[in-house]
Amino acid sequence: MNKPVQQSPTPWHAWDVGEVMERLATQRAGLGTEEAAERLGRFGSNRLAPPKRSGPLTRFLRQFHNVLIYVLLAAAAVTAALGHWVDSAVILGVVLANALIGFFQEGKAEKALEAIRGMLSPKAMVRRAGRRMEIPAEELVPGDVVLLASGDKVPADLRLIEVKNLRIEEAALTGESEPVEKAVCPVNERAPIAERACIAYSGTLVTYGQGTGVVVATGEATELGRIGALLEQVEQVETPLLRTMAAFARQLTVAILGAATVVFAFGILARGYSAADMFTAAVALAVAAIPEGLPAILTITLAIGVQRMARRNAVIRRLPAVETLGSVTVICSDKTGTLTRNEMTVRRVVTADRTFDVEGVGYAPRGGFQVEEREVAVDDYPELLEIARVALLCNDAVLREQCGEWRLEGDPTEGALVALACKAGLDPRMEAEERPRVDTIPFESEHRFMATLHHDHAGHTFVYLKGAPERVLALCQTQRSRGEDRPLDLEYWRRRIEETATAGQRVLAAAYRAVEPGRRELLFADVEQGGFTLLALFGLIDPPREEAIQAVARCRAAGIRVKMITGDHAVTARAIGAQLGIGDGARTLTGMELESMDDTVLCQAVKDTDVFARASPEHKLRLVEALQANAEVVAMTGDGVNDAPALKRADVGIAMGRKGTEAAKEAAAMVLADDNFASIAHAVEEGRTVYDNLRKAITFLLPINGGESLSLVAAILTGVTLPVTPLQILWVNMVSSVGLALALAFEPTEPDVMRRPPRPVGEPILSGFLLWRIALVSALFLAGIFGMFEWSLARGASVEEAHTVAVNTLVAMEVFYLFSVRYLRTPSFTFEGVKGTRPVLAAVFTVFGLQLLFTYAPFMGLFFGSRPLTISQGVGVVAVGVALLVILEVEKFLWRRRATRREGCAA
Ligand code: ATP
Repeated sequence: MNKPVQQSPTPWHAWDVGEVMERLATQRAGLGTEEAAERLGRFGSNRLAPPKRSGPLTRFLRQFHNVLIYVLLAAAAVTAALGHWVDSAVILGVVLANALIGFFQEGKAEKALEAIRGMLSPKAMVRRAGRRMEIPAEELVPGDVVLLASGDKVPADLRLIEVKNLRIEEAALTGESEPVEKAVCPVNERAPIAERACIAYSGTLVTYGQGTGVVVATGEATELGRIGALLEQVEQVETPLLRTMAAFARQLTVAILGAATVVFAFGILARGYSAADMFTAAVALAVAAIPEGLPAILTITLAIGVQRMARRNAVIRRLPAVETLGSVTVICSDKTGTLTRNEMTVRRVVTADRTFDVEGVGYAPRGGFQVEEREVAVDDYPELLEIARVALLCNDAVLREQCGEWRLEGDPTEGALVALACKAGLDPRMEAEERPRVDTIPFESEHRFMATLHHDHAGHTFVYLKGAPERVLALCQTQRSRGEDRPLDLEYWRRRIEETATAGQRVLAAAYRAVEPGRRELLFADVEQGGFTLLALFGLIDPPREEAIQAVARCRAAGIRVKMITGDHAVTARAIGAQLGIGDGARTLTGMELESMDDTVLCQAVKDTDVFARASPEHKLRLVEALQANAEVVAMTGDGVNDAPALKRADVGIAMGRKGTEAAKEAAAMVLADDNFASIAHAVEEGRTVYDNLRKAITFLLPINGGESLSLVAAILTGVTLPVTPLQILWVNMVSSVGLALALAFEPTEPDVMRRPPRPVGEPILSGFLLWRIALVSALFLAGIFGMFEWSLARGASVEEAHTVAVNTLVAMEVFYLFSVRYLRTPSFTFEGVKGTRPVLAAVFTVFGLQLLFTYAPFMGLFFGSRPLTISQGVGVVAVGVALLVILEVEKFLWRRRATRREGCAA
């Protein structure tokens, strides 16, 4: 073979197909596997260099860019100037620790998201050594033959060699969002990119039709790589809630600095303290009040939530979706493959004369035929062979046997038809040779049929048609009955369709028409002009997924309504809906009915209809809009390129990871790795859990800061000794608060999460209840810290000892408060509650160990002024923690009783 030319700006668009193939040393059957591997080594992966990320040093330094850190650095400088070297060193140490924690957590969160993004790496359909196969797009090499279908993202720069109504949207490259029609003919060498109709550029989207192209450039050598466009922007770890909280933390910092200044002035002017003392006190106050760990904790909570969702097959593409998921009130789901298993089997074949029942399940071509419950031989029914032939040849699916298991390549509906043909004794390869296909109109949900043009070796040319029965019926004039073409008995067929659909089966019809010999092209208009002969109806079963039935019930308990939107027949849809627990088994709305409604009528209709049949992607968009107009928060699934607008419009667009097109995935906020409805329910559950955990982290941290700062302000205002020194507060905030709060990021789902109604959109995270709780707990912390400090002094302890008691009380209260906050409203005194989780126990033991060190290690005493405590002091410390937990349990009980009373009154 010739060596292919180097990847460089070569005028591929100006050469004809033959020349291109020759220069790339390839052929229509594709490259051989070894050749492809060799080229991969030579040209490298088909990948764009990831966007430049700042280096570790920059990211580390960025951690210091923060108002709090500036305050602390200033404090360190002033304490150093005053000659308090130890204080200064500790403050610097804490600054460093804070930067390190921020650096590692940020890195961890980003890594988690990156790994998840990696799960969505695109695939490409290629022909290699004459076989169609799907490979990771990264492995494409120049010379590969790539097959494109609507919804695909073009995986490399391709010189097109075959097109069928191929239209591509090149906005990624040219900014033009109107799709352009593609062709095979070469164009002028100097034609600008937008006019090179015979090239499909990497990163652009196929919006319609099909095509085949040869890879001419990959990775950085593609046009997209050359202009340095990024396929995907790096997403910040940020959501509306995190932004609000970060802004809140900043405002709080400024307010606290203001308050610290006032306290500073007050201490000097009204109480006559020295400037140095008051400066230390003001720094203590600032440090105590600012919730420094909060933004990092929230980010990590979110990242962990996203990771958990990914583990349960819901891959988040846009982070705000995590929050929105908790508010979803309606889930609109596709049926096939999402609610059902998408393992189709033909169960019955209905002809004008009789019904054949088909045995066997799955794609294995094993099973016979029965008529009126009696086994029959196919040879006795020649019409069955003709029907099986249409099923086999008007079809793109392939069944392969691998280790005794039959695997499908292609669409399950078509796979079932291939299996049927094999059961009838047809050999796919032989049939394709005897009646070669010369042209195709592929199946699209919009027109609901597929047609193929064939000729045989006796000079006949004919069209095979299969599709939704009412569609096919409308194109037929005659029916095949007892070997002859007779006038169509519409009434008969309608009855049989209804009957098959009522059994919950998907119905397809097969038809045939002879055309003039030698015909090589099949146009839409040829099919639309009708004149077909109806051969048969197929009834296919597609059982509901067991886990989907349960998931629908769980969604209902969680106040979420599930609606099914399907391309299937209304009667089939209703029957399957009933099996799944969707809809009332009576009401359905079809796409056609939906079209005849104006927006106001539709808004009413969507309120009590849950099953939508014969619906196309445009209908999905109208449904989302109607539901949103009723103030619903809508999650909508989709897979095709035309679903993209509905996915974008929905509050949470959900694309199918397996059967979904790249176009749908790109429009979606979340991708289901397993295409399973149950994963949506899991994602909602995890979404609600993340929100709960964010609330818990906030409710945990804020009152600790509140309690600490109240203690300091009270001390300064009343002129008594500070119960905790500034350095000790730094220690507590940086070590125990952050460590304990981090455990909340790993909190498991509360048992009642899917029994609560969805969270109203726009509900402030700091609800009245949380504000009250923060105020109450701040007051309790104040009482605990101050009380224990004064109690120790009163019992003859030194100031240092009293400080140590106060610090340990503070930490003990934090630990017990952590157990309380894990269940915001329900009791914490349960087996589960007391047992904790591994992260909670790890955090508690670490903090306990560190407090022992703080209290008893001499070098800690040197730094922090701590002193060893007696056993009775230790017992006192723990008792205060327990008391806090008990008080909060009583408070929770009172809230619950109030809520039940209210419910009672409302009832
Ligand atoms: P859902 O919307 O529930 O996921 P679906 O998207 O599979 O269902 P469509 O694929 O739009 O629904 O199918 C609609 C109808 O088109 C089917 O009821 C069937 O009659 C017909 N049909 C489905 N697949 C094919 C095919 N490959 N060839 C011809 N007709 C088909």
